[in-house]
Amino acid sequence: MNGAILILSGPSGAGKSTIIQRAEPHIGDFYFSISTTTRPPREGEVHGVDYYFTDKESFEREIAAGEFLEYARVHGNYYGTSLKPVREALAEGKLVIFDIDVQGHRLARERMGDRITSAFITPPTLAELERRLMSRSTDDPDTVRRRLENAREEIRALEEYDFLIVNDDLEKATEEFVSIARAARLRPGHEALERFRESWLATVSNTPH
Ligand code: 5GP
Repeated sequence: MNGAILILSGPSGAGKSTIIQRAEPHIGDFYFSISTTTRPPREGEVHGVDYYFTDKESFEREIAAGEFLEYARVHGNYYGTSLKPVREALAEGKLVIFDIDVQGHRLARERMGDRITSAFITPPTLAELERRLMSRSTDDPDTVRRRLENAREEIRALEEYDFLIVNDDLEKATEEFVSIARAARLRPGHEALERFRESWLATVSNTPH
C-alpha cells in the first residue's frame, strides 16, 4: 500500500469538483473515490460517476457487513466511502482523493491517519456561499437552508485540517490545490517508513562502532 490519501471537505457549493477538474492535468495519476449515498440524484448526476445511488436498506446492510471505511449522515441522508476500491488504489500507489464531510474526515483519520493529508475548501464568506447555492438552482429553498446550517457547523472543524483553501479566485484556489495534492503524494505512510528504515539499516553490518 504505497499510495496516499487527500481528503477534501467543505460546504456543497464551495467549488470542490470544479477545482479537482481544473487541477486534474497537473496532479498525476489519482483515483477519485466515488461515494455511496441514499440521497436522490440531482439533475445531470450519473450513477457510478458522481455517486453510487442506493437505498437506505442496502446502505445499512453494507454498514453491518463492515464495507465502509467511513460513513456519515449528512442532511438526513447517508453518505459513505467503500473500503475495497480505496485499498486497491492505494496498493497501486495512487493518490486517492475523497470529497467527504467533517465527520467522515475524523473517522478516516482514526483509521488511516498516517497517510492522510486534508484540506478544507470554502467560499470567502457565508453570504457568498448562500449566493452560490441560490444561483445553482438545483436545490429547493429548504435544501439550501439545510446546507447553510450544515456549513455553519462544519466551519467549526477548520482546525482539524492541514490546509484551508479559500475559493475566492478559482485560478488561485486551483493552484493551491495542485501544491497540496503534490505534497500529499510525498507523504509516506508508516509502513513505507518502516520499510525504508529497514533497508537503510541493512546496508551495513549490525556491529556497533
Ligand atoms: P452533496 O449532497 O452536496 O453531494 O454532498 C453533501 C455532503 O456530503 C458534502 O459535504 C460532501 O462532502 C459529503 N459527502 C459526500 N460523500 C461522502 C462520503 O462518502 N462520506 C462522508 N462522510 N461525507 C460525504
